[in-house]
Amino acid sequence: MDKIVVLGAGESGIGAAVLAKKQGFEVFVSDFGKIKDNYRDLLEKYGLEYEQGGHTESKILEAKEVIKSPGIRDDAPIIKKIVAKNIRVISEIEFAGRYTNAKMICITGSNGKTTTTELTYKILKDAGLNVAIGGNVGRSFAMQVAEDKPFDYYVLELSSFQLDNMYNFRADVAVLMNVTPDHLDRYEFKMQNYTNSKFRITQNQGKNDVFIYFNDDPISAEEVKKRTFNQQVWAFSVKEELKLGAYFLDNGNLEVRLPEHHDSISPEGFQLAGKHNHCNIMAAVLTALYLGIPVDKIKQSVDSFQPIEHRIEPAGVVDGVTYINDSKATNVDAVYYALDAMKTKVVLILGGVDKGNDYSQLDNLVKEKVRAIVAMGVDNKAIHAAFDSMVDIYDTKSMSECLKKCREIAKSGDTVLLSPACASFDLFTCYEDRGEQFKNQVKEMM
Ligand code: ADP
Repeated sequence: MDKIVVLGAGESGIGAAVLAKKQGFEVFVSDFGKIKDNYRDLLEKYGLEYEQGGHTESKILEAKEVIKSPGIRDDAPIIKKIVAKNIRVISEIEFAGRYTNAKMICITGSNGKTTTTELTYKILKDAGLNVAIGGNVGRSFAMQVAEDKPFDYYVLELSSFQLDNMYNFRADVAVLMNVTPDHLDRYEFKMQNYTNSKFRITQNQGKNDVFIYFNDDPISAEEVKKRTFNQQVWAFSVKEELKLGAYFLDNGNLEVRLPEHHDSISPEGFQLAGKHNHCNIMAAVLTALYLGIPVDKIKQSVDSFQPIEHRIEPAGVVDGVTYINDSKATNVDAVYYALDAMKTKVVLILGGVDKGNDYSQLDNLVKEKVRAIVAMGVDNKAIHAAFDSMVDIYDTKSMSECLKKCREIAKSGDTVLLSPACASFDLFTCYEDRGEQFKNQVKEMM
């Protein structure tokens, strides 16, 4: 019996292990850290052999294939040993893709993945398709393939780490939202490596498939020019009229230009605001049209889609000041779009674990809109270096201190925007924790 080793016992790893066992493989799950109780319970329930707190090399190096969780770096010692033995390392998505005939709608990008994935899923579901959602959101894709009745469609959010270990998987619809600097520590600090990883979403596609990308993103557009494609290639833009795809210019309608569709969709009723969300909507609309869903149905679904938590989410109004939670903004590009969407003066909360950010993209918006920056992090040096010459910066080390400062500075009519451009792990357990604390304390102030 061939042996499959699963490294990492989180949502994706457990799903992969259950599917592998169901497919008749001998399975061993190994986690270098401590496995969460709920996942340990699942390992027990399915009778899977596992270990935690270390890797037993002899057991791992017997594998025919290793399924690696996306959080494990390629330079981890155990991965180097596996690769040196020529054992193939794949992702949960590659593995599960082998055991379903469903159509794959795959969405990647530096930002906008979750919003676009959720919106696309909603449109397909509302249209009555037999569809599931997975990948980086919700339940593991592999677990659904193993356990649920067969679906006709999966909408999958894919990170670059998942794509890195995908080889034969083919997306029927591949969506690339954008490529902007993020996670570069995993890509030898080379933007091209990260770009190549994102473009793996297009690999293996054929003439009946479609690749949808953001034409205004210089990195995506350049890369598209360099490559040849067998599949159809559609684009979307918030800057210019395109001949093939969709565009959505200021004060206009969302215009679709496809061989069989010339549609003009009114934005009245859209709950998602801001240029970035217009991009997310266009990507979802193009996908749905490709799948043959009528435009009036699509419009109804988009209109009833509410913004997702922690993404430019209104948190309340205190003394005439609006508080907005954009805790999920963990890179500079997301902050750019959040500031771009603001209609008032802004007190901007930045800071956390800086991933080597280049803040210069924000200069003009900060000069134009930001009243002051309240830095909230253990180390705020990079923020001072970037913005000291432009605005006042106040240093704080907890959410309560931060919000107290914001309240002092903000004037009635302003917006206090938590859009930190950084990871949260210095002061919080995760971005959700940071966003929850923000919202709870705003509620208390109200
Ligand atoms: P992801 O899953 O890629 O992290 P999300 O939809 O969760 O994307 O959004 C993450 C952050 O990026 C939020 O701050 C959100 O406001 C912002 N954002 C959402 N869509 C886009 C986009 N298309 N371009 C840039 N930023 C975006």
